[in-house]
Amino acid sequence: MQIKVGPTHNYVAFFLTLSCNLRCRYCINLHSRSARTRTGPEKMSADDWINAANRLVLRDDLPLTIQGGEPTLYKGFYRFVNEVREDIKMDLLTNMSFDADEFIRKVPVRRFSREAPYAAIRVSYHPGQNDIEELIRKTIRLQAAGFRTGIYSVVHPEESGRAHIMQTMERCLKLGIDFRTKEFLGEWNGVLYGTYKYDDSVCGGKLKKCDCRTTEVLVDPAGYVHRCHADLYKGRQPVGHILDDDFTVREIDKFRSCSFYGDCNPCDVKIKTNRLQIFGHTSVEIKNLETMEHVISHERY
Ligand code: SF4
Ligand code: SF4
Repeated sequence: MQIKVGPTHNYVAFFLTLSCNLRCRYCINLHSRSARTRTGPEKMSADDWINAANRLVLRDDLPLTIQGGEPTLYKGFYRFVNEVREDIKMDLLTNMSFDADEFIRKVPVRRFSREAPYAAIRVSYHPGQNDIEELIRKTIRLQAAGFRTGIYSVVHPEESGRAHIMQTMERCLKLGIDFRTKEFLGEWNGVLYGTYKYDDSVCGGKLKKCDCRTTEVLVDPAGYVHRCHADLYKGRQPVGHILDDDFTVREIDKFRSCSFYGDCNPCDVKIKTNRLQIFGHTSVEIKNLETMEHVISHERY
């Protein structure tokens, strides 16, 4: 059966793998003691991912985003981007550790080309983890081959880190590279950074109960669909499986009871720009907050 997204859905993402070859201290996959292994050892085969993607009916302004971890580490990555139905447009979030020549040789440009206010291939620069000279070289190669590619970096809370990002941005813009900054999210040296819609939803100290509904279809490396990034990274109860015959987006449209408000992932509750680059969007909607008596214990997961 087809999985048809509606006008209220803002994001469809396949997390092909949560493995990564970098070790960024602020990695959002690892927020609040999440772990790359929590989604279980099973991984979907390339055939499974292709079948899953082929069930999707997307809008022109809503691509399938391929992310992780580092999605190009998934061994079936090149098969996947080649064999999915031709009309499915994709975005790629990557640290660009892949071989640029191999990428250009094996990936059809049309897969990552559509009209949008931002690049379909979004490279993350992590100072101290990946090398900006290499990212610039590869970005120029990909652009020359027809791939619209941009580099993104979080603005680090420390002054020296911030200054470096600003200088790097200026340099890249002069080279004709689309370089954009992102807000730093999560805790750094005991201070919480980020702009969140719901008070105390991130690192809130106490857990609360609420009803929560998402606008996103988030599929973990084993194919399970989750109501939020926090559930996905922590391997909590999924709402379904992307290959279930009877799975439809109606499953993600429901308000569901949650007992983990206070331990939300920043990605779910931050105020951000939507796919149209309009600021003020939040991935989830939360209502009926109820205080519970216990302090967050990470041991329960
Ligand atoms: S590159 Fe991305 S996924 Fe990998 S460790 Fe850094 S932030 Fe995490
Ligand atoms: S309240 Fe937070 S943890 Fe619970 S489902 Fe919503 S976003 Fe996820």
